[in-house]
Amino acid sequence: MLDCQLIIFDCDGVLVDTEPVTNRLLAECLTEIGWPMTTQQSIETFKGRDLHVIRAEAEAKVGRELPDLLPTYRSRMFEAFASEPIGLIEGALELLDALDEAGTHKRCVASNGPMNKMQASLTSAGLIDRFHHEGEARIYSAYDIGIWKPEPGLFLHAAERMGSRPSDAVVIEDSVSGIVAANRAGMRVVGLAGLTSAAALEEAGATWVITSLNEVLVGLGG
Ligand SMILES: [Mg+2]
Repeated sequence: MLDCQLIIFDCDGVLVDTEPVTNRLLAECLTEIGWPMTTQQSIETFKGRDLHVIRAEAEAKVGRELPDLLPTYRSRMFEAFASEPIGLIEGALELLDALDEAGTHKRCVASNGPMNKMQASLTSAGLIDRFHHEGEARIYSAYDIGIWKPEPGLFLHAAERMGSRPSDAVVIEDSVSGIVAANRAGMRVVGLAGLTSAAALEEAGATWVITSLNEVLVGLGG
């Protein structure tokens, strides 16, 4: 599964367990502007997608122009990250430890979220140092290049910065849009099922589907 040079980790839902809190806040914001939604509906509808698209969909749904959702949503999110420690995805720490020990793979993070969100969540979860190498942060945000998953540009950018070809990279993703992006980038992709079902990840084109990062750990030897 990991016969590759580079592992590109998605952030939310693969390393840090942010989706429950961020989708609760997004559902709250959408409900307030007239699109009633639960946390679960928000996860099903929006996980891994780009907030610009979400605003356009909300405007279509409520039939009027809406104020920018982002400032309210983001300020609530940073408050939540600061007040409730963000959990790790099960197996993430063990996988990073095993990769450190093996010393066989380069790794980075690539997310549709903004850089300060990744920094806040990875710091809260105690993982930020695991993605620094010789003083350089190996963390790539779609906001910094203006291309969001499911477009392939973010993964291509990350691989280029890491000095690897797409065919030498494996992406670990938990969302349909991320799996589509990896496929379009010509990369193999491990789909981590959880909030999104194994069937949906497989249908989106995941090369392998797992239900726990521990399965990657087991496959590290071969
Ligand atoms: Mg994700």
